[in-house]
Amino acid sequence: MTEGPKKVAVIGCGMVGVMTARYLQRAGHSVTLVDPREPGEGASFGNAGCFNPSSVVPIAGPDTFKQVPGYLTDPLGPLSIRWRYALPILPWLIRYGLAGTPGRIAAQADALHALLAPSLEALMPVVADAGARHLVRRDGILIVYRTARSVESDARNWAIRRAHGIEWEDLDEAALHDFDPNLSLDVKFGKYVPGNGHTVNPGALVKAIAASVHAAGGVLVRAVARDFRFAGNRLEAVVTDAGEVAAEVAVIAAGAHSKPLAAAAGDRVPLETERGYHVVIADPAVQPRVPTTDSEAKMVATPMEMGVRVAGTVELAGLELPPDWRRADILRKRIGGLYPALAEGAAHGNVTRWMGHRPSLPDSLPVLGRSRRSPDVIHAFGHQHVGMTAAPFTAVVVAELVSGRPSPIDLAPYRPSRF
Ligand SMILES: Cc1cc2nc3c(=O)[nH]c(=O)nc-3n(C[C@H](O)[C@H](O)[C@H](O)COP(=O)(O)OP(=O)(O)OC[C@H]3O[C@@H](n4cnc5c(N)ncnc54)[C@H](O)[C@@H]3O)c2cc1C
Repeated sequence: MTEGPKKVAVIGCGMVGVMTARYLQRAGHSVTLVDPREPGEGASFGNAGCFNPSSVVPIAGPDTFKQVPGYLTDPLGPLSIRWRYALPILPWLIRYGLAGTPGRIAAQADALHALLAPSLEALMPVVADAGARHLVRRDGILIVYRTARSVESDARNWAIRRAHGIEWEDLDEAALHDFDPNLSLDVKFGKYVPGNGHTVNPGALVKAIAASVHAAGGVLVRAVARDFRFAGNRLEAVVTDAGEVAAEVAVIAAGAHSKPLAAAAGDRVPLETERGYHVVIADPAVQPRVPTTDSEAKMVATPMEMGVRVAGTVELAGLELPPDWRRADILRKRIGGLYPALAEGAAHGNVTRWMGHRPSLPDSLPVLGRSRRSPDVIHAFGHQHVGMTAAPFTAVVVAELVSGRPSPIDLAPYRPSRF
């Protein structure tokens, strides 16, 4: 049975938090957003901006343990572990490796697909409402390869995509360079995925949605959420460093910082962060036609309104250690191998660098659903590499739960107790 309007506190103003706030309002609930920062200043600020329903392939695969040593010993490689963090991250890494068995991958891909497939359909009404249509493009993405061997080594991932109904166009060398004449001639194979989209400014998109939450009566409280106050198993308030926020329901959407809040709601989850970096080349000599993934360098070059954003790399170093800007400089060095005309601008031009915290569970799935401690605390965090894409439908699910309706998808794969 549908329940009446509720007073909901949404903790975290990233893409997941603001989308959730907006869907809650659309369902008739009143919303207070709690965040010490401006909306869209966390991971949702600096990502590659892609809305990729095609990203159904879990991060850990059967070859993960074989590939990791090679990545770690390559100074320009896509993965690094800070030695000071090697021991703390070990239990997560073991779980991560064990998540990559064929049976588990198949189940994770199904669960990713359930969240990602409706992404753009759930996103666009909110974007239109926020007057932010100009920030979203729906013209697909490109994935490129240099050798037939690397195409072959990715075949398993394309089979997973095919099994989930993802459509793409294979481009041979001529068609690829016709599609984007600025690509390096070393790049010989392409796959164009027309169903994906991207934002030309992820931070601005989150801020625009947050402004629409405010315009619809939502309140933003500048505070760090620390705990919950319960009466029995019912929520009464979110406890923050600036006092209490009275709420009948709380949603934990604090991204990579959600672990202590989840524990306060009775759930111990192995949330870690896969730190990522970007560089933005302002005034670029050329722009990619669409977001273009270099499958060998494992980085994405996205055409954005502030320039070309080159994003990627995974660094396992927790939440506290300072950025290692050499990781961003790898992106700067490698972009000329994808777009030769960008090499000069990347080396000597107007370039900004950024580091952000992807919120990641070892099995590539978020934590989504009610907490163990109380039905009034709902988890919505841990969207790892696909949080921009997964946020809109996560928001739909949370709004349904808060309204007392059944979830539109089976929530068992995302339950906090699965670890
Ligand atoms: C380099 C890179 C590239 C990426 N590219 C893509 C992409 O192309 N497509 C895609 O779908 N995904 C991408 N991602 C992943 C995506 O950015 C994240 O999954 C997503 O932004 C997570 O959103 P979020 O709202 O959960 O977290 P965040 O955006 O990090 O927001 C969390 C918010 O919670 C607040 N907060 C933290 N602790 C508290 C507290 N105690 N109380 C109150 N507030 C708190 C923070 O201040 C922050 O505002 C990429 C990530 C990186 C790093």
